Amino acid sequence: MIPLASGKQKWALRSSRLFDGSRLHTGSPTVLVVGGRIAAVDLTGGHISADVELVDAGDCTVLPGLVDAHNHLSFEPTTELIEYMRHTDDAAMLDRMRLRARQLLHAGVTTVRDLGDRGYLAVRLAREGGPGPTILAAGPPLTRTNGHCWFLGGLADTSDEIVELIARHAGQGVDLIKIMATGGLITPGWGPAESQYTLDDLTTAVRAAHDHGLPITAHAHGRQGISDALAAGMDGLEHVSFFTDTGSEADWDLVRALADAQIPVGVTDGFHPDGPPFPAAARQRLEQRRQILSRMRAEGVRMICSSDAGISPRRPHDLLPHSIIQFTDLGFTNLEAVAAATSLAADSCRLGGRKGRVAPGHDADLLIVPGDIRDSLTGLLAPRAVIHNGEEAA
Ligand SMILES: [Zn+2]
Repeated sequence: MIPLASGKQKWALRSSRLFDGSRLHTGSPTVLVVGGRIAAVDLTGGHISADVELVDAGDCTVLPGLVDAHNHLSFEPTTELIEYMRHTDDAAMLDRMRLRARQLLHAGVTTVRDLGDRGYLAVRLAREGGPGPTILAAGPPLTRTNGHCWFLGGLADTSDEIVELIARHAGQGVDLIKIMATGGLITPGWGPAESQYTLDDLTTAVRAAHDHGLPITAHAHGRQGISDALAAGMDGLEHVSFFTDTGSEADWDLVRALADAQIPVGVTDGFHPDGPPFPAAARQRLEQRRQILSRMRAEGVRMICSSDAGISPRRPHDLLPHSIIQFTDLGFTNLEAVAAATSLAADSCRLGGRKGRVAPGHDADLLIVPGDIRDSLTGLLAPRAVIHNGEEAA
């Protein structure tokens, strides 16, 4: 641990290296923190005035706190997720979520976007303002009766129901809307390759969300669902797996359209290396996905490194640092992988002026990791310190 100037109104953090969300700077860069915000960034290694307490982190890299743009705080990373949901009341679930929030912060995640809760519990957790990251919450994702994640309660089968549910979500104070354009892997009913909604439905949802001033992102695994979600004018896409009934097969014209649109694509293929082994079929699909994602990177798709944590034993809530490391398997450099979970992720959450960068005016959300992140990202797995709004995570 590094003795930090916790509780101080004004202090400065110096280290051998600073990654600002886009570029890495050397030469003892210094971040001046005033009242929870970054007041200035000095790249010259210059003198710090005597009234400012200086913390020197030494041979470390200072970087923006991580932004996980796809997490599920209310889920339990178990194979019995639906059973857990059935047998856990809201009070007990909220208690678990408080624990998850602290767990995320300790892993270096200073902003989390919850893309699917039950009963607006993540909205409540955000309002509590307890220990944990800054939380954005989508509330229960819009889905069909018996559709993907139906157990979260966001059921909307007709266009009228879509409009009504989005209005209710807005009234409950959600930060964005999430809609399940296709089925998924964890609930039977609709398969991941199948569309749950038509292009008309999705267009209605986009219009309704925007009428309430809310961005909307679509869970989309299958080709048709991805294509329709893009055509509907979604603000973001999640997964973009190109799942077929048997594996993964990309539509490269559609990939180029995604790149042209520069729509943020939340990639959620990371897994915990200590999780249960993959069955052979899943391993094969994972390798297909790796090849597709590598080429999506080469085609210039705007890829965000997200976790989708909470949905399975391979995806514990604090997965994101592992996902960042695995992002480099797709051809991203270390710095690009970190940018995909900081500056680019913050932009995709519309927090670009506040989170995801070490820049004047931004919240002082900082991570101190040992060594040089250009050489190795393993320091992300054991940060020396996590700072959220200028305070070290307790
Ligand atoms: Zn998810």
